[in-house]
Amino acid sequence: MVASATVRVMSPEEIAARAAGETPFLHGPVRATFFAEREMRLRQLSRGHAMGDFLSFMADLARAQQAQLKVLTGVTLPDGRAIDEAARRGLPPLPAADWPRDAAWHGVLRAMVADLQATAPEGAQGALLRLAEADEVFVERQADALLTGVMAGLDLATAPIVAGALQVYWTHMVLAVQQHHQGQGQPFGRVDDETSCPCCGSRPTASITRSAGESLGQRYLHCSLCGMQWHMVRIKCPHCLSTKSLAYHSLDAAEHREDQEASASRAALATVQAETCDDCGHYLKMVHTDRDPFVDPVADDLASLTLDLLVSETGKQRGGVNLMLLFGEPDPPGPDPLPGGG
Ligand SMILES: [Zn+2]
Ligand SMILES: [Zn+2]
Repeated sequence: MVASATVRVMSPEEIAARAAGETPFLHGPVRATFFAEREMRLRQLSRGHAMGDFLSFMADLARAQQAQLKVLTGVTLPDGRAIDEAARRGLPPLPAADWPRDAAWHGVLRAMVADLQATAPEGAQGALLRLAEADEVFVERQADALLTGVMAGLDLATAPIVAGALQVYWTHMVLAVQQHHQGQGQPFGRVDDETSCPCCGSRPTASITRSAGESLGQRYLHCSLCGMQWHMVRIKCPHCLSTKSLAYHSLDAAEHREDQEASASRAALATVQAETCDDCGHYLKMVHTDRDPFVDPVADDLASLTLDLLVSETGKQRGGVNLMLLFGEPDPPGPDPLPGGG
């Protein structure tokens, strides 16, 4: 008998944790399907959507990412000692901001650009041509800006494609490190800062709830760079860890303008919610697999931009990072004070 295609592949750690009745701390990406599932979700969400063209292009980008993730091999990885040392210091072993990048990621970017040039709409061709002709100094500078969160000097038109290549590179490294360290303990552990990715130290895009077997509705934060998901209890704010003042908002509730009680019960059923915290003033979106099994934190975040607009009206700041759609442009030079600043 062959295994049914609907059976999810579990890592040895997940199987062990499941057997012990524990919630696994990590859910890793699966090489064969990681970006392909995102592509499928983006195509589904793009139909009839106001941002349909953008979401379709993002689906093409995910398709190009999957093609590269499948074939990428042989980049420089941290050795066992470096991984142990990072674990001892409570730091991620593949830190986004400091990791010396292997030039192999330039090849990933070039292949993705060539792939996209064949199918991309007219509007995206200019950015693709710029990247096709860019030298390594330019793309390394763009990578530095993306990975350190500095918006100054970032070329916003090419950023999603450069970020897409960096995601492939980091996802590959996470998978390769895990593979090389099988049987030698867990290469990725808990880091001191539980609000950032235990593998690469990046911020989450959104959180995802998983209901599988014993772990009913467990919440995981989805890394914006390497795609790793790490567990965090639902009573904590994923930005400041406060347990005091979390609330949930959804578009569905907002669109119906009902009385508060009905609106709260609708919000409780929405596939995508915004979790807001009054203590730190931030919010992070949460997507629910039990309400829609095909949710993808990155795709559903892109398709729910209206929810960001709604929540930002209440003065809350976005805590999630989506490398495909960056928020907050550099402060404009000039005498005009920023609204709400000071
Ligand atoms: Zn990560
Ligand atoms: Zn908070």
